[in-house]
Amino acid sequence: MLILVINSGSSSLKYTLFRMEDEAVLFAGAIDRIGQDGARHSFRDAANHEVEKEAYAPDHGAALDEVFATLLAGPLTSLSDLDAVAHRVGHGGKYREAARVNPDVISEIRRMTPLIPLHHPAMIREIEECMIRMPQAVHVAVFDTWFHWSIPDEAAIYGLPWHYFSDRGYRRTGFHGNSHAYVAEKAADRLGRPLGELKLITCHLGNGASVCAIDRGRSVDTSLGMTSVEGLMMGTRAGDVDPGLIPVIMKEDSLSPDEMISMLYRDSGLLGVSGVSRDMREIEAAAAGGNDRARLALDAFCYKVKRYAGAMLMVLGGCDALVFTGGIGSNSPTVRAKVLASTEMLGFVIDAEKNARARTSPDNQVEDISAKSSVIKILVIETFEELMMARQCRKVVGTKK
Ligand code: ADP
Repeated sequence: MLILVINSGSSSLKYTLFRMEDEAVLFAGAIDRIGQDGARHSFRDAANHEVEKEAYAPDHGAALDEVFATLLAGPLTSLSDLDAVAHRVGHGGKYREAARVNPDVISEIRRMTPLIPLHHPAMIREIEECMIRMPQAVHVAVFDTWFHWSIPDEAAIYGLPWHYFSDRGYRRTGFHGNSHAYVAEKAADRLGRPLGELKLITCHLGNGASVCAIDRGRSVDTSLGMTSVEGLMMGTRAGDVDPGLIPVIMKEDSLSPDEMISMLYRDSGLLGVSGVSRDMREIEAAAAGGNDRARLALDAFCYKVKRYAGAMLMVLGGCDALVFTGGIGSNSPTVRAKVLASTEMLGFVIDAEKNARARTSPDNQVEDISAKSSVIKILVIETFEELMMARQCRKVVGTKK
């Protein structure tokens, strides 16, 4: 069974081709700067050759044409070789698990767009363009929210008037479900214990970021909420802001709801605080060079991860392992050290040398950076959301093809 996994952002499209019998990656690539000058296509073939070239990608449709042409010149002889396409979707709304795309699924994704304004428009466009180009394939929407339906009502409910919960279904739905679920499985493998016995805190720290409490394989709380802006400070998203402050700012600065949304999602977070970049590498470099705002952005980012990880420790009543993942979590020893600084009394002790040396990659997905004296294991794990997506897609195809 061949499954193509597609993960599209507002100006990017990542894709991975899996052979599901052995879960082998046959091909993987990404097109960046869609709709802008200088779009680039980079990919890695089965022989692990890296290629980067210019791409014609004025929109997502053209980007897909480029992807299919590349796949046909490589691992596929015909697009009908593909059994299914798994599309990443942020918010599943009423859908609790991956679903075969049909008009109801599309309208549910559209209904959720105000909650995920940065990502859903591009995701919908990509699904529609892909279905036009490949009407014969089974298309499956895989939602970021599926993993968090197990969060109990007491953790999911907002303190708003009752009907928002009972009639509109407003509750914490969380995101990054594929990543949290994947690294939890990997952590269990590394600890050599069944996932069903473990309490884990997983910190997915990338452009988007969230912390999750996982109790015996089930998500019981997470820092992201009903929209993709609550919780941690992110690349350009604000994270927690006193809700009372939002209308005050809107009135003071005469902002429309759309302008406020744009501020919270695009102009805030690491970028808004540092004024330097949304990219943690650039922030760390600027902070090291003496830029005070960059240092504050870095410190605030780490502090908020610490605060949420601490909350999850109480929620779980202790834990067996804490996992760092995502672009920042996997690659930044500085962030990991700051997050767990002065938490020895709680059982976290990082080995400074292992932390500095830890390098994860697709071939070396797990690094243990805990000191011998650490009661709780501290792991760095390379996430693989695409594989979780492919597995869910396989389940849907298996039942509905
Ligand atoms: P996305 O959420 O878009 O998938 P990623 O998980 O790829 O994002 O994470 C992107 C973030 O990872 C960026 O802030 C980037 O700066 C950060 N990052 C990548 N490599 C490093 C590194 N070596 N040190 C610090 N941060 C890094």
